[in-house]
Amino acid sequence: MENYDFTGPDYVGRILLGGYSSALVRRVKDNIVSLRALELVRVPIIPYISAWRDDGRVIWYEYVGQEFCELLKCSCAEVAEVFRRSIIDRRQYRYVKVEEKVEEEIITRDELAGFWRGLRDEVKKKGAVDAVYHVLKGDESVWLKDQAHMEAFPDDGICLSVGFLSDVTKEMELKDLFEKIGYIDELTRLPKRSILDRILEINIGNLQRGNINDFVLVMIDVDKFKLVNDNYGHQAGDYVLANLAEVMKATTRKHDEIGRYGGEEFYGFTVGDLELGRRFAERLRRNVEKTVFEYKGRVIPVTISIGVAAASQAGKTITPEQLIFMADKRLYAAKAEGRNVVVSADSLES
Ligand code: GH3
Ligand code: MG
Ligand code: MG
Repeated sequence: MENYDFTGPDYVGRILLGGYSSALVRRVKDNIVSLRALELVRVPIIPYISAWRDDGRVIWYEYVGQEFCELLKCSCAEVAEVFRRSIIDRRQYRYVKVEEKVEEEIITRDELAGFWRGLRDEVKKKGAVDAVYHVLKGDESVWLKDQAHMEAFPDDGICLSVGFLSDVTKEMELKDLFEKIGYIDELTRLPKRSILDRILEINIGNLQRGNINDFVLVMIDVDKFKLVNDNYGHQAGDYVLANLAEVMKATTRKHDEIGRYGGEEFYGFTVGDLELGRRFAERLRRNVEKTVFEYKGRVIPVTISIGVAAASQAGKTITPEQLIFMADKRLYAAKAEGRNVVVSADSLES
C-alpha cells in the first residue's frame, strides 16, 4: 500500500498535531488507513473523516478523499470552506410513518449558515448522518449523498464523523423530472396516464421474473357524460369527475391503484387474477351507482362502465398496449350491453 505520511502535507487535520488522547489519535490514524485503502482500490465513493468540538462551532476534516478536492477544484486543506460555499441546499428524507410516506426536508444554503450547529447536535444525538447535498460544480451542479457514522470522544470534547459521499445526480434529476412533469391530475388528484405506463412496465417485469402470478387492468368510462355537461353545465361535469375520483379511490385496497386516463376515462390496477379484478371492478361500479352526486341542489345520475383484462390472458410476452387494448375492447362491449356493467371476457362473436 502506498505510504501515507501522518506528519507531512497529506494530513490536513488537527488531532494528530498533538494535545489529544491516545485513544482518539489511534482512532483517527486507523480510520485514515482504512479509508485510504478504500481509495486505493478505487471504490467509487468519496471517503472522509470530519471532526468538531463539542461546542459545535468549528468543523474541519481529518481526512478527505482526493476526489473531493478534484470535484471542488481546491486543495484538501480548503475543502471544508469551499464545500460550504458550494452548497445549494441540503436535503434529508425521512419516513413520516414507516411505509407510508417519505418526507423531504430542504435546508437552503442561507438557512444552513445559521443551522450547522443544530445539525451537528442532531448528528450527535442520532449517531449518524444521512443526507443529500446539492452542490455547485462550476456551471453545473451535482448531488452528493452523505452517509456517515458519528463517534464521540467526551474526554477530548471531540466528535468524529467517518463517512462517504456518493454521486446520486442521476437519481435526484429523475426525481425532479417527475415533479416537473406533474404526475398528479389537478382536477381529480389522481395519478395521470404516465403513471399507468410505469405501473404496467414494472408489473410486466414482475410477472416475467415470476415475482407475481398475475395482475389486472380495468378501464373505466363514465356513461353518457356528455349529457351531464349538456344538461347541468361543464362545472357540474368537473364536480362529478372530482367526486367520482374520490368514490373510486375510497373503494381501493392497499395495493390497488386508480388513475385518470384522460377526459372522463379512468384506469384501475390491482395485483391478482381475473376473478379478483372482476370483483374489484364490480365494487367500483356499485359504489358509484349508489353515490348521490348533488350539484347546486340538483341530483345528477352517474354510472360507469368497466372493461377488465388480466395480464395472464395475453401470455408472458404481453405489452402494455396489448393489455390496454384488451381492457378497452371489453369496455366497449360493456357500453354495447347497455352501460353500468362490468365486462371481463371477450364476447363470442369477436
Ligand atoms: P358514453 O356512455 O358512450 O361514454 O357517452 P359519453 O357521453 O360519456 O361519451 P363521449 O365520449 O361522447 O363524451 C365524453 C364527454 O366528456 C365529452 C367531453 O366534453 C367530456 N369531458 C371530458 N373531459 C372533461 C372534463 O375534464 N370536464 C368536463 N366537464 N367534461 C369533460
Ligand atoms: Mg369516453
Ligand atoms: Mg363516456
